[in-house]
Amino acid sequence: MPSAPLLTEFAQQLHCLGLDVRQNIPLSELTRFQLGGAADLVAETAEESVFVRAVRAVRSMGVPWLALGGGTNLIASSAGFRGVILRYRGARIELGERYVHVESGAELQSLVDFTIANGLAGLHTMTRIPGWVGGAIYGNAGAYGHSIESCIEGVRFFDGRVLRGLDRRGCEFAYRDSIFKRNKDWIILSAVLSLPPGDAEAMRRRAEEIRSLRDAKYPPTMRCAGSIFKNLLVAGLPKELMLSLPPGVVVEGKLPAGWLLEQVGAKGMRRGGIQVAGYHANTVYNDGGGSPEELYALIGELKQRVRERFGLLLEEEVQYVGF
Ligand SMILES: Cc1cc2nc3c(=O)[nH]c(=O)nc-3n(C[C@H](O)[C@H](O)[C@H](O)COP(=O)(O)OP(=O)(O)OC[C@H]3O[C@@H](n4cnc5c(N)ncnc54)[C@H](O)[C@@H]3O)c2cc1C
Repeated sequence: MPSAPLLTEFAQQLHCLGLDVRQNIPLSELTRFQLGGAADLVAETAEESVFVRAVRAVRSMGVPWLALGGGTNLIASSAGFRGVILRYRGARIELGERYVHVESGAELQSLVDFTIANGLAGLHTMTRIPGWVGGAIYGNAGAYGHSIESCIEGVRFFDGRVLRGLDRRGCEFAYRDSIFKRNKDWIILSAVLSLPPGDAEAMRRRAEEIRSLRDAKYPPTMRCAGSIFKNLLVAGLPKELMLSLPPGVVVEGKLPAGWLLEQVGAKGMRRGGIQVAGYHANTVYNDGGGSPEELYALIGELKQRVRERFGLLLEEEVQYVGF
């Protein structure tokens, strides 16, 4: 990262391009865990052409950068981020003749509400998944048996040189995975969705049920990232383990990480101000006094316990910055 005067000059350059630029911003302010040291610069705009020019400028300077959305699936270290956090805030949601067009800076909940209001089915079970649409596509977010991939027709992104598009197949979606996770220098800008018609009233009722369930599990002020670990696809698990599982443990072809964690006594575990929820072993939260390093250490301990007891490696769903 450039020296302080160069940083200021660079901030001015980005500002001249039309971005809102802030210096020395704690990542604790931008992440739901409310943890993490300062990022040198945070640059944001809702204009796609301005954003693309900024990414080009950042890349040509050789400055490290990171795309950030709502910060709901991210753990940032105390060291923060030496470089530029880029946030594309374009948030338009439009209904065309056949498709819904959405920009990646839209809140996922706004998109969910929009589709329900327009009687379009497929996203209503994703009620109360926080974050922005870009982050949801990146991690193929989903809940209650549906993931965002099922309604994606195409995704438009900037690969650092040119604007490109991929259809659903090209996005290589899998459980909490997409091609974007493997190409971290691609930035998702917008998507085209195709959703079949549905009964708006029935979807609204279901969404309300889900909202109550989720608000009980993740109170809106909880400093967390939802599930820390991915569930395990049973297709890849050893036969002996599968035979030893009590009935009903496997859900939708997956062995819940929460069940494995519960078996190793994770519920209620604590490291400083970081705690595993007493009611769900895959929910880890900051009680307000935690540090990123405590969180990192607790996650490591949980993985180790599961590895020792079951010989399985849990994989984080949450993403790290600066560790
Ligand atoms: C209370 C709670 C409940 C949750 N429940 C669920 C759930 O049920 N199901 C589920 O799937 N998830 C869940 N999550 C996790 C999280 O909400 C989702 O993963 C969400 O989609 C992340 O979006 P975000 O904008 O916050 O991403 P961020 O946290 O900002 O970023 C996550 C990753 O995506 C990358 N990224 C973000 N935007 C872009 C972009 N435009 N282009 C390229 N890369 C980008 C970032 O670099 C980072 O690596 C939950 C989180 C919380 C806090």
